Amino acid sequence: MDLFEYQGKQYFARYGIPISQGEVADSVEEAVAVAERIGYPVVIKAQVQVGGRGKAGGVKLAADRSEAELHASNILGLDIKGHVVKRLWVERATDIAKEYYASFTLDRAAKQYLSMVSARGGVDIEQVAEEEPAAIARTHVNPLDGLDLETARDIVRRAELDEVAREEAAAILVKLYRCYVDGDADLVEVNPLVLTTAGRVHALDAKVTLDDDAAFRHPEWEELAGAAEMDDRERLAKDKGLQYIGLDGTVGIIANGAGLAMSTLDVVNQVGGSAANFLDIGGGANADVMADALEVINTDQNVRSILVNIFGGIVRCDEVARGIVTALGRVEEGWPIVLRLDGTNAAAARQIIEDYGSDRIISEATMLSAARKAVEIAAAGGRGERS
Ligand code: GDP
Ligand code: MN
Repeated sequence: MDLFEYQGKQYFARYGIPISQGEVADSVEEAVAVAERIGYPVVIKAQVQVGGRGKAGGVKLAADRSEAELHASNILGLDIKGHVVKRLWVERATDIAKEYYASFTLDRAAKQYLSMVSARGGVDIEQVAEEEPAAIARTHVNPLDGLDLETARDIVRRAELDEVAREEAAAILVKLYRCYVDGDADLVEVNPLVLTTAGRVHALDAKVTLDDDAAFRHPEWEELAGAAEMDDRERLAKDKGLQYIGLDGTVGIIANGAGLAMSTLDVVNQVGGSAANFLDIGGGANADVMADALEVINTDQNVRSILVNIFGGIVRCDEVARGIVTALGRVEEGWPIVLRLDGTNAAAARQIIEDYGSDRIISEATMLSAARKAVEIAAAGGRGERS
């Protein structure tokens, strides 16, 4: 789960990381009221879960009431890379001397945490990472050792942060590490971490991604999730208890098991198509789950074909086939379904599908041929023929 900047900042604040004083606002009137309470100049910031808000006009300084009104009304409703701004964060403006970058994430290959710190933070950090990777100090942190202040000091020195900033930046880095570990985050990122003209260091932006699989031990996350941005497909899938991730291709995917679902995505790509989603229906490929899955995929405007890829191990293919037939009885309308059933009782399953005799279902023997067929149908705008 990604947090909005204001949630990330409130989270940082609980760990003692300094942030600017601010409040959320959902209307122009509220934004002005907050600005008046905080005192000018203020910064008005779009709350959307996408980077590059500054460049898109979603971050503006306001020196007085009329500027606050103007910027708030311009930013509310603004479309930033497909995310429409519904909420603002208004905070006291900072006089910036330098913009740095700091983050913690997981380096899976190294089986260690990775800290990245740079003296070249700000809106062009991606460019810096690409053109001058040496300007970012990368340091692995062994989860068993943790991060102590000495190491943090060493990191900010190697990152060539200005001397006056180093002691505060190192202390912030240690707190950020606590945020990352104690908070079960996948990513904590501060860009920019600023040195103010008064010589203080604080977080001017916050990007936090929490590990959803740790939600069971964080009842406090429920409140954060309430505000989360989710597209309609993801919301529906969540309500139905499905493991679903929306993508932007044209082939809807249903598979049992996360590994098989991922392979299916790969094969669809390999044959020149693009997946509309990742959907793992797990072991319980019964009629209810199948109907739910088809219903969720049907809400996706981009989908033109559906690829159902089931390998029967413990789950028996004939049961899956009956599930599909029952599900189709309930969700009649929809795009052609290319079906690959293999494993336990596959022959019986194919017979069930054959007997059902729906023009909507096209059976294929292998994952590759099924992917080809689904991609072909999607490319033809959803028109398929039974083979
Ligand atoms: P992003 O573009 O989505 O990463 O949004 P940020 O919160 O990082 O803001 C983008 C840029 O706006 C920052 O890199 C700063 O240069 C600028 N900015 C943000 N807050 C302030 C502020 O309080 N004062 C000043 N002068 N600039 C700010
Ligand atoms: Mn930023």
